This record gives sequence, structure tokens and C-alpha cells, in this order.
Amino acid sequence: MPAHDYDLFVIGAGSGGVRASRIAAGHGAKVAIAEAWRVGGTCVLRGCVPKKLLVYGSHVAHDIEDAAGFGWTIGRATHDWPKLIANKDKELDRLHGVYLKLLSNAGVELIEGEARVVAPDAVEVNKKRVTARTILVATGGWPVIPDIPGRQLAITSNEALDLKHRPERIVIVGGGYIAVEFAGIFAALGSKVTQLYRGEMILRGFDTDVRTFLADEIRKKDIDLRLRTDATRIDSTMRGLAVTLTTGQVIDADAVMMATGRAPNTKKLGLAEVGVALKPNGAVIVDEWSRSSMPSIYAVGDVTDRINLTPVAIAEGHAFADTVFGGKPRKMDHANVPSAVFSQPSVSVVGLSEDAARAKGIALDIYRTSFRPMKHTLSGRDERMLMKLVVERATDRVLGAHMVGADAPEIIQGLAVAMKAGATKADFDATIGIHPTAAEEFVTMRTKTAEPAAKAAE
Ligand code: NDP
Repeated sequence: MPAHDYDLFVIGAGSGGVRASRIAAGHGAKVAIAEAWRVGGTCVLRGCVPKKLLVYGSHVAHDIEDAAGFGWTIGRATHDWPKLIANKDKELDRLHGVYLKLLSNAGVELIEGEARVVAPDAVEVNKKRVTARTILVATGGWPVIPDIPGRQLAITSNEALDLKHRPERIVIVGGGYIAVEFAGIFAALGSKVTQLYRGEMILRGFDTDVRTFLADEIRKKDIDLRLRTDATRIDSTMRGLAVTLTTGQVIDADAVMMATGRAPNTKKLGLAEVGVALKPNGAVIVDEWSRSSMPSIYAVGDVTDRINLTPVAIAEGHAFADTVFGGKPRKMDHANVPSAVFSQPSVSVVGLSEDAARAKGIALDIYRTSFRPMKHTLSGRDERMLMKLVVERATDRVLGAHMVGADAPEIIQGLAVAMKAGATKADFDATIGIHPTAAEEFVTMRTKTAEPAAKAAE
């Protein structure tokens, strides 16, 4: 009789949990995975995928506007929000099916129910206690709504993806990824969007040039971006919702969306009770092997609040499974993880921002260019692109690549490979551009920007 029911019990069938369970099963482990809702997780069902589909759908509005300069006459275009949502849901159902098949093909047992850890090697699910040699927590995160009067009237990205009608007027609170992405979606589709951000500039943590450049660009897209402004209360009125701002102003809206961050999903998991150390925000504290303070319990993905991105969760899950069940110890490398914000225009970055590199005391050469993309010479659209390289002066190594503009994520992905391989600015310079593209600017930037001290003296 085996000592445990399973070799591995995974809690949460999102990107990280599914990858870990499949790989572990492939290594011969007996694996079960518990999911309280639908297999797929935030990215597939409530995040990246449906959001990107809505970004595509909404961006068509800009393409229609741009068409005139290329000789097209397009009659009054109308948009059917319920149809977009229904088509998006159909695609999510398909992906859900793909995920189910992936699990069953890998021989992973799916248990539909909410699991709770009751001992270092046992969980309770559907009122049954099962034991496992190793437990993996991959429960992701959940949107946080600030504690203001009327908070129950607000929606989050979860509900925004399933609204029956597109709100004519929406207030979006927050200055992070989700806020700017949804502001772009709703604005392109014709909603009057007011975005409130409590700080000095949106996208905290990104390069300062990127932040200010994007703020300018999204304002051109009719997003009423208000900095140093927050919502203090929400009331239901005859006209819909009334949002009171820190400025004292009250604005009417049909929906208020809180994009004010996400918290790790550990509340009902029983982790602290069995001795797993958590951060104050509930994140599971793990080492570089994704192992918690309890040796038999591991965690990957957003629940650990390291780099909260799907491909990172997947890579962490894969490394965990190879390490614990494949006899191939492998740590996830969290350096130079590229990321993107699907704002309109999009943002994508890999490596260090200028600010972060300077904070480390590194002497830098900065290359920066901004220009009107060729397409808009005919479309007439007032949209510019920004590209920036952060280079370590002593070694010539490219430490950071940053872009704001159409297709930025598609372009930065390739640069991420170069940076992972340790590319220098000389390597970029020796690379022939593809003409005419925007991307070629990354290999043709020759002039360093002035030093901050010199700039200040100008
Ligand atoms: P973020 O943490 O990126 O942003 C939260 C925003 O809300 C910040 O601007 C923050 O301000 C503000 N905020 C936080 N608390 C309050 C409050 N009480 N009142 C007012 N404002 C507040 O979270 P998101 O929800 O945008 O996204 C969550 C995570 O999901 C991201 O960290 C990212 O990793 C992931 N994600 C990735 C995407 C991608 O890769 N394209 C897309 C969407 C999400 P401040 O800056 O002052 O703290």
C-alpha cells in the first residue's frame, strides 16, 4: 500500500497548476488537481485571453478611422457588444475544453471542488480527506476593491469581461496594467472613459519615459486620465452611479471599475494553520525552488506574488515538476522577464528601466527615439512610438529595452532572446534592420541621449 493517495496534489487548475500537474504526471507521478470553478484559471478565463480578444475587437475602431487616409470610405460602423462577448465566450469554452483534454491525456485526475490543506501531506476536498506526498498551491489571485462607501457598486475586471451592455460612461480606478488596458478597450468602443490614478504617473515601476509617453498617447484616445485623483465613494442615483473624487467633484457613470490590484488567493486554504509562512498580503513565501516553509508544500504563480505573469507561473510550475518528480533540479530564472501592457498603443519592456538601473548605481548610456510610425503618415492619426535602450557603459550590455507603440509586444519578444543571450549594444548595431519597419529602429539608434545632469543644465 502506498503511504499516500497521490504523489502530487495540486490546488488550482490555472496556467501554473495545469503545467506542473501535466509535467509531473509525465515523469510518472500519480497526480490529482482540484479546481473550485472552471479549469483554465485567471489568464484563460478572466484575464489575458478574453482581455486580448477585447483589445483586438476594440482596436478595429481605430483601424476603421485610419482607413480613410488609404482611400477607403466606410459607412457608419456600428458595434455589437453582446456579440463580441458571446464570441469571446465561445472561444473560452473551446479553450476550457482544450485544458480538460490536456489534463486527461496526461493522466491527471481532476477533482471539481474547493480544496483546503489540513496537514503537511493532506487536503480536504468535497468533505473527503486525501493524502499526498507533495502539495502544490497554485491558486492565483483575486481582484481587490478598496474599502470605500459604495464599493459593492463597483465591478472589477472579472465582471467587465461579461457585461451585458457596454457602459456609455465608465470610471476606471487604478493606474496599473488592468486599468490602462480596459480604459483603452472601452474608449475605443465609444464609452466615455475617466481613469483615476492616485499617484503622480500611471504604470508605477515602468520606465519614466514609457509612463509619460503612454499617458500622452492614451489622452489622445479620449481617455480622461486624472492623476493624483482617487474615488472616495460611489452612490447609486437616478442617473446611474455617482463617483465622488478626492477633488470633491462628483462624476456620473454607468459603471465603476476598480483595477486596484490583486491579492493572493490563500484565505480559505488553511496554510497558516499547518505552518506555511505567508507574507502580510497572504502570498505564500517560497524559496528559489518554489518551496514553502513547509518542505512538502510548494507554490507557484500569482499566489506567491513574485512576478505575476502567466508565462512565469508556467515556467515555475514546469521547473517545480522537473525538480521534484523528474530528477532534473531546475530553478526558474526570474531575470529579464519580458512583459507587455495591452494598452492602445501597447507597451512592452524587458530588463531594467533607466530609473532602476541608475538606482543600482550603474553608469549608463541611454538611446531613445520617438517618431510617427509610417502608417500614420497616411492615416493622419496623431500617434507616436517610443523606443529606448538602457545600456551599461562599462560592458556595453543592453540592460533594458522599452517600447510604446503598435506591436510592441511582438517586437520586444525577440529582443528578450537577445538580452537573455547577453547581447551588447554593438550586437544590436551589427544587426541589419528589416526595412521598412518600426522594429528596425532598435538596431539603428546611434546617438546617446544627454546625461541627466547635462539635460538639467539645458
Ligand atoms: P497593479 O498592481 O498593476 O495596479 C494596481 C493599481 O491600482 C496601481 O495603479 C495602484 O496604485 C492602484 N491602487 C492600488 N490600491 C489602490 C487603492 N486602495 N486606491 C486607489 N488605487 C489603488 O494591478 P492590476 O490590478 O492592474 O493588475 C494585477 C496584476 O495582474 C499585475 O501586477 C500584473 O502582474 C498582472 N497583469 C498583467 C497583465 C499583462 O501582462 N498584460 C495584464 C493585467 C494584469 P499605486 O501605483 O499607487 O500602488
